[in-house]
Amino acid sequence: AAKRQGRNAYAVFDEAMYASVINEARQRMEMERALAEEQFVVHYQPVVDLPHQRVTGVEALVRWQHPERGLLAPNHFIDNAEESGLIVPLGRWVLQEACHQLARWQADGYAEGLTMNVNLSARQFQYAGLVGDVRDAIASSGVEAGLLTLELTESMLLQDIDAASETLHALRRLGVHLAIDDFGTGYSSLNYLKRLPVDVIKIDRAFIAEVATDAGDKTLVDAVVTLSRALSLKTVAEGIETDDQQAMLHLLGCEYGQGYLFGRPAGPEAIASLLREHAEVSSLHT
Ligand code: C2E
Ligand code: MG
Ligand code: MG
Ligand code: MG
Repeated sequence: AAKRQGRNAYAVFDEAMYASVINEARQRMEMERALAEEQFVVHYQPVVDLPHQRVTGVEALVRWQHPERGLLAPNHFIDNAEESGLIVPLGRWVLQEACHQLARWQADGYAEGLTMNVNLSARQFQYAGLVGDVRDAIASSGVEAGLLTLELTESMLLQDIDAASETLHALRRLGVHLAIDDFGTGYSSLNYLKRLPVDVIKIDRAFIAEVATDAGDKTLVDAVVTLSRALSLKTVAEGIETDDQQAMLHLLGCEYGQGYLFGRPAGPEAIASLLREHAEVSSLHT
């Protein structure tokens, strides 16, 4: 069919490609301005200790408060930021913002021991200034390094395992913790779990969705929890939406969970009131 349409088919294709290149370039410039004009915001999703039903931390998730398009989720802009390299300054900003927010919650008195998770992208992980950026975020906010966990994905670690190992050790020396995000969706190599200084495994929500109803998924999650425990790692189940899923994860011995069941990502004020309520509930019990 392409042949019969002849040159026109190519012309249309070129035009579409051209349009998408222009759109990407436009968004790139828009994002640079957005960063300068502080249009990015960070939302936080609670991480819950499943056996004790207690919020123990939050994950920082970036959003773009776009002047015309409204609040944009990362899938609308993260890939572009990654390709253009803007993810480096954007990620640095997220790190700073998340650490300062944790310090503000602590100053307000209802965030004792609360942990903060921050996602890193591949580009950030390869960036030579990463360790310095993390050190700066900790120093300028004054938060304890041990309360910060950086989330990485398997593919980032496996590209160049020696380089990855060096960076992970340098981050570890700062005192921060390291998590494998979306575990199970990449090319998992059990080898790196033993070789690399990782503290936490976050099981991707693809395996959690059917954990209460699909025997295969249940077996997989069971195996990951067992493996994780054998290596003395913490396990977090992502994307818990129902009581049945939560009950099954509890049964399988998964200690931590995250998902809409406990709370969607929300702004700092909403999280503060969640923490406040929580503090009241636990003081009623003591
Ligand atoms: P992620 O790190 O795996 O974060 C979890 C994502 O799952 C979040 O999507 C969260 O809103 C969503 N989620 C949480 N609970 C549930 C649930 O019960 N059901 C469902 N269906 N979804 C749930 P979000 O905020 O749209 O972020 C998507 C991804 O964008 C993140 O996946 C992360 O890879 C990336 N991202 C977000 N913020 C940052 C950032 O600051 N830097 C970098 N490099 N990447 C980020
Ligand atoms: Mg994450
Ligand atoms: Mg994830
Ligand atoms: Mg992810």
